[in-house]
Amino acid sequence: SQLDHSSSILIVGCGTWGSSTALHLARRGYQNVTVLDPYPVPSAISAGNDVNKIVEQGSFSGRNNDEEHVNNQLLDDATEAWRNDDVFKSFYHDTGYIIAGTRPETIEWLHVREQPTPENGFRELNTAEEFRKTMPQGVLTGDFPGWKGWYKSTGAGWVHARKALVSAAMEAQRLGVRLVTGSPQGQVTSLIVENGDVRGAKTADGAEWRADRTVLCAGANAPQLLDMKDQLRPTAWTLSHIKMTAEEAKLYRNLPVLFNLERGFFMEPDEDNHELKICDEHPGYLNMVTDPATGKSSSVPFAKHQIPLEAEQRARQFLREAMPHLAERPFSFARICWCADTPNRAFLITPHPEHKSLILGVGDSGHGFMHIPVIGRYISDCMEGKLDERMKRSWRWRPETAENRNWKDTLHRFGGGDQVMDFQNVKNDRWTAIRPRPAAL
Ligand code: FAD
Repeated sequence: SQLDHSSSILIVGCGTWGSSTALHLARRGYQNVTVLDPYPVPSAISAGNDVNKIVEQGSFSGRNNDEEHVNNQLLDDATEAWRNDDVFKSFYHDTGYIIAGTRPETIEWLHVREQPTPENGFRELNTAEEFRKTMPQGVLTGDFPGWKGWYKSTGAGWVHARKALVSAAMEAQRLGVRLVTGSPQGQVTSLIVENGDVRGAKTADGAEWRADRTVLCAGANAPQLLDMKDQLRPTAWTLSHIKMTAEEAKLYRNLPVLFNLERGFFMEPDEDNHELKICDEHPGYLNMVTDPATGKSSSVPFAKHQIPLEAEQRARQFLREAMPHLAERPFSFARICWCADTPNRAFLITPHPEHKSLILGVGDSGHGFMHIPVIGRYISDCMEGKLDERMKRSWRWRPETAENRNWKDTLHRFGGGDQVMDFQNVKNDRWTAIRPRPAAL
């Protein structure tokens, strides 16, 4: 059917990309937009439900022209929006950024990805003293064994992720978008397929949400609702928090992001709970499960507010090298967090080739938060059939690139033994046992 502002549009998933899409559709004047999510905003399983995310510069996937162009365009548009869009700008902190590694292959990749030259605003860091001096005295106390890095004092930083996500969803709602969240009413169990097209979705309470267009933004859970032809690989990362005192939190204000591509990263403690988030770095965890009916194996996400003890050890090693005075402090919170990798880490934003009324907004590939202010604009463009040609090519439906997919491809990620891991190999008693919080945020 022809699309106009009264057309019914159903968005499956109110996480990072779904809330951005809802916002942009509402801003364009669409008056009949509904978003479904099994969790209230911010969803406890959204990859974007997190205290902070890095906003950085760089081209992540490949070096062919379309992708370079698209990455740069994305970055320009997102930067503009983080600076100027009232829904997002108060959550962006242009604190600067330190990128580091230790081994030659990591450093080499870092050169390709970041181009850390003086012309691009980077200064080289070669000694522990040089690393320590990038932050106030008492923050970085470590020996930085073997680290080599680059510091860029502006043009990169971090965002308060959860607050930005909530802000997008609430503004969408204020503009008239209907949010149907919580389970069973917001939990999509299947798409409605009729005469080869998708006509909406069914939810766990038995309701049918019929719509002129359906937009799939279910993140790592998308393959459970649609045959993605192996183009998405649900892959999980691990994050942990430690509690800081009010005084420490004061000392740790306005810090640049510190990211070692083999060890992990941290940003300053969050302003509300004074907790410091640490991510250990690695190529990710799968959860490979074989479907008894088809004999086919795939990675299936699950929610858990704990991390493997081996991840805890990696986080503590990062602390020992950079901030040893915090290395033994107990964790106050931890969780696993799922993304969806395409074979080349370019997004998958396209109409479905057969189901003409279905639009896909998936394939975040682990770098999709920083684009929250603008990703919904492209997904809306895609729905309206006016996506930029190069984005169209880069983000196309491309099952041929996923044939006989190597599920263990590290996709240029390092750390943790440089291997993609599998939660199936983590025994039940090899997980942290942190007391859960009342609201599992
Ligand atoms: P999500 O935000 O996960 O949204 C999916 C939504 O679908 C959720 O709300 C979920 O509840 C909903 N859903 C699931 N199943 C159903 C169903 N059956 N019916 C309806 N709804 C459903 N990116 C950056 O740019 N910078 C960073 O520094 C960064 N750091 C990261 C650190 C970690 C530890 C992780 C895990 C990711 C990081 N990312 C970062 C990546 C970023 O978080 C993701 O790319 C982005 O959040 C993905 O957005 P999404 O909308 O695709 O998925």
